[in-house]
Amino acid sequence: MRKVSILGATGSIGQNAIDLIARDIKAYNVVALTGGANIRQLAEDAQRLGAQLAVTAFEDRLQDLRDALQGSGIEVAAGQNAIIEAAGRPVDWVLSAIVGAAGLAPGIEALKQGATLALANKETLVCAGALVLQTARENDARVLPVDSEHSAVFQALVGEDMDAVERVIITASGGAFRDWPLEDLASATVTQASSHPNWDMGQRITIDSASMFNKALEVIETREFFGVDPGQIEVLVHPESIVHAMVGFRDGALMAHLGPPDMRHAIGYALHWPERRDLPVERLDLAQLSQLRFSHPDLNRYPALKLARDVMARGGLSGAVFNAAKERALDHFIAGQIGFTTMAVVVSRVLDRFDAEDGLINAPLTLDNVQQTDHLARQWADEAVIKRAG
Ligand code: NDP
Ligand code: MG
Repeated sequence: MRKVSILGATGSIGQNAIDLIARDIKAYNVVALTGGANIRQLAEDAQRLGAQLAVTAFEDRLQDLRDALQGSGIEVAAGQNAIIEAAGRPVDWVLSAIVGAAGLAPGIEALKQGATLALANKETLVCAGALVLQTARENDARVLPVDSEHSAVFQALVGEDMDAVERVIITASGGAFRDWPLEDLASATVTQASSHPNWDMGQRITIDSASMFNKALEVIETREFFGVDPGQIEVLVHPESIVHAMVGFRDGALMAHLGPPDMRHAIGYALHWPERRDLPVERLDLAQLSQLRFSHPDLNRYPALKLARDVMARGGLSGAVFNAAKERALDHFIAGQIGFTTMAVVVSRVLDRFDAEDGLINAPLTLDNVQQTDHLARQWADEAVIKRAG
């Protein structure tokens, strides 16, 4: 039996993973499930999958979790340290599907115990790519991509030599506002930004798709994961979300990965890797698809993509700054304190302020430095929001 743990089990990715595991539960020994505020779901899944341990990220919800699992024999715990401890329990495979930079420390802990880390949490690579991959190497552990574009690139690269790669193209649906007049974006509401044309995902990544902050994170994730130069990474707007990524080789060949927009493909690929097993995803009928469209993204509509280029050029801790500032700007947008287009302005201000403080960006890439930088970037994002309001 394979021992597995799921971090962020109650979220959109976590629930898709549980769907796959529950279909073949006899093959798995589920060690830990972690969640956040959704105690009911966490308790229900922990019982259904026979988990050894259930952890909520929030200490004030421990009693609720205890009540929900009373008499089940399942161990309970709460808080960020408890999630890190859960990630460190020996297993073969850990899915990191926590949202935000909170996923970084548990992911590193999972690698330290030698597990294969299936990584949906792209923030882990954006904030500390080199550190994470080095931790994997030192512990004979492995990181497998779950983000659909990166899983697609990974699959297109099987058996290939990285020296033969000319370019990596990741696609973007264009999000909720792809066809909106530019001048209307400033007044876009949270509800409008929270509906995705093709994918059913958590609210935060859905809004990040509308602003393309999600694609910006993914460009950086591509650079970190595959070690390609920023100039080799392209983004194409592809409204149908059928081609997830393409790899261009030096002989001119372009290998594309196609599939329906269903995250169970990428999760399942990482779960069964290096094998391919049956997965309950719809089979594409290309004759039924009337068209597949591709276009270059408009950087005026999606300034986040330009910021991603700046971040890659700056290097060091700027990925951590970018992600933290983006997370806070998104919090402020969701809370109604700033408009949709102000998010990119806030992130840009925070990056500039870090630039002005010589030395901060180029401190060594340690977990402590990443966490301190993350903290400061959030504070500076809050200050940028207040300045704008004042
Ligand atoms: P969701 O918001 O649906 O789920 C997030 C999970 O993290 C939930 O289990 C949530 O608990 C938990 N959580 C929330 N806050 C914390 C915290 N502070 N500490 C620990 N756990 C916490 O997100 P998604 O599933 O959409 O996304 C998860 C990750 O996967 C993100 O990094 C996203 O970018 C990435 N991803 C998602 C895709 C998708 O299709 N959804 C596609 C590709 C990548 P609770 O809900 O109980 O509060
Ligand atoms: Mg993606």
